[in-house]
Amino acid sequence: MWVAELRFKIIADTNYQQAETALRGYLESLIFNGQILGREFPTHLLQDEFIARVIMPTQDALHTSWHRQPGLKALQQLATGGLAYPSVEILGMDLMSNHTDPCDDSAAYVLYCRFAQMNSVVYCAEHLAPIPLFKIPPAYGVDHEDLVRWQLQYQALDEIQMQQKSVLLGPAERALQNLNSKLNRQGRQFAKQLTSKLAKPVYYALYRGTSSDCAKESQRLCPSCKGEWLRKTPLADLFDFQCDRCLLVSNIAWQCQ
Ligand SMILES: [Zn+2]
Ligand SMILES: [Zn+2]
Repeated sequence: MWVAELRFKIIADTNYQQAETALRGYLESLIFNGQILGREFPTHLLQDEFIARVIMPTQDALHTSWHRQPGLKALQQLATGGLAYPSVEILGMDLMSNHTDPCDDSAAYVLYCRFAQMNSVVYCAEHLAPIPLFKIPPAYGVDHEDLVRWQLQYQALDEIQMQQKSVLLGPAERALQNLNSKLNRQGRQFAKQLTSKLAKPVYYALYRGTSSDCAKESQRLCPSCKGEWLRKTPLADLFDFQCDRCLLVSNIAWQCQ
């Protein structure tokens, strides 16, 4: 991932509120298309330009050819806020985030989410490296807004259950771990839609934190079809289980490892 500075020059009479609305609209459209990552974008005014710092999955992520309809519209609306199209300056590689997948075309994908990773939830199954969402056709709608909003909820629950003195451990863990929780049903639906859009298998990564019986954990069956799904060696050093029928992957409960 790359750290970049976006500079929006003030080119017409405007006020702070109009400029801020236009800026927010544009940055939001980039978030929902996976062109920038994260939730907070420090932005300041310096002389005649607004400067926002962002994280991008690739150096060319803001190229207008990657924009979808909402992004193009938001780009036009910058003018309404008195702002020019942004100039992009790459500051360097982000040391705190994952590297984007090197593959041009992956044979299979994994929909995988954890609280600490702000990158795309679609990973190359071979490298377990994230694939920028703007390169993938959206599962629903014109951009990836639904998927990004789902990711935010997943991460919020994951963060709650990762806390040592969690205030809501049971419900948060159940939402992540139960195949039929609303969160996982939605997640699998995204994986299914993406499987048909990409014409490649998109596995859904089912979280497994705890087990009622660690001695039998490696013998457990696919929670969907009840078939055998233990792999000889873990996929991407992470997933001990894989069911090709149900397009599910999972791990031996962290508690048992
Ligand atoms: Zn790859
Ligand atoms: Zn299965």
